[in-house]
Amino acid sequence: MYQGKVDLHLHLDGSLSESVITELLARDGRTMPLEEIHDAIRVPDHCTSLVEYLKRFELPTQVLQTEYAMERAAYDLVERLAKLGLIYAEIRFAPQLHTRRGLSQEEVLKSTIRGVRQAQSDYPSIRAGLLLCSMIGGDANEETVELAKKYVGNGVVGADLAGAEGMVPIEAYYDLFRGLQRENVPYTIHAGECGDPENVRKAIELGAKRVGHGCGAIKSEAVMDLLVRTQTVVEACVVSNLQTKVVLDAKDHPIRPFFDRGIAVTVNTDNMSCSNTTLQREHEVIAGAMGFTDEEFLRMDENAINGAFIPENEKKELLKRLA
Ligand SMILES: [Zn+2]
Repeated sequence: MYQGKVDLHLHLDGSLSESVITELLARDGRTMPLEEIHDAIRVPDHCTSLVEYLKRFELPTQVLQTEYAMERAAYDLVERLAKLGLIYAEIRFAPQLHTRRGLSQEEVLKSTIRGVRQAQSDYPSIRAGLLLCSMIGGDANEETVELAKKYVGNGVVGADLAGAEGMVPIEAYYDLFRGLQRENVPYTIHAGECGDPENVRKAIELGAKRVGHGCGAIKSEAVMDLLVRTQTVVEACVVSNLQTKVVLDAKDHPIRPFFDRGIAVTVNTDNMSCSNTTLQREHEVIAGAMGFTDEEFLRMDENAINGAFIPENEKKELLKRLA
C-alpha cells in the first residue's frame, strides 16, 4: 500500500506524544498515570462536536509553556515523522497559546524552530516548516502575524487561522491576512470544517492558497468550481472529521468527489495524538472506504508538495523523491 510522505496539516499541540507529556509533567514535579494522560488527550468515541474535540488540547497546552517544552515537542514530532517515512511536513501552532508562564511569542517561536532544526539535522530525510496560527477570538493575533512576517523563510513557511470556526466571521480577519499578503507570507485558513461552504469561498477571497478541511465546499457547486479554478489546495483530515462528526461515515467524506472533480486535495492527520492517527492510518481509512489506488494517493502527495509553502526548487527535489 502507498506510504504517504507529506503532511501539510498537523498541529504541534494535538500531536504531542504521551511520553513527552509525561516527561514535561515530571520536570514540573507532577506525575499523572498514562491512562489519565490518554483520556485527557484522546478524543472519545462519543465526541459530538468540534468544540468538544478542542477540549483535548488543554493538557498539551498546559505543559507547552516553557522554552524547553516547545523545543522538545518540536524535536520529538519531527523525529517521529521522519521515522514514519515522511519527507516533508508543515507543523502548525499558535504561539499565543504558549505564553501563560511569561514567554513572549517570539521566545516560543525561537524554541520551536530550534527543536525542528535539531531534528532535521539528526534526520536529514525530512524537511519541516512551521505555520503560525492566529486564533479565532484570539487577542494577540497581530503579534503572531508580525512574527510570521519576520521569520518567513527562516524556520517559518507561512500562517494559518485556527480555532472554533464560525465563532467570529472570517471577514473579521481581513486586515490581518491582507497584511500577510502584502509581505508575501503564504497562508492557509481553517474553513468549511463544520460544513459552511461560504467560509471556503471567503478564505479563497481572503487570499488563502490552501484551506484546512474544506468539507463544506461539497454543498456548493460554485465553491467547488472556485476551488478547481484557483487550484486552491484542500487539506483533508478524514479521521479528524469523523471524530468531530462533520462527516458521519468515511465513505461519505468529500475527499473522493473533490479528487474526482480535479480539486487539489491532500491527505493530512490534523492531530496525531488527539485523533490517534498517522498518515498511514488516514490512507487505510480512505482506501478502505473509498477505494483510492496507490496512483491516486501519489497524486495527492504531489498536490501536497505543489501546495507546500516552499520555493519551487525545493518542491522539485521533493517531487523526485516521491516516485
Ligand atoms: Zn486543524
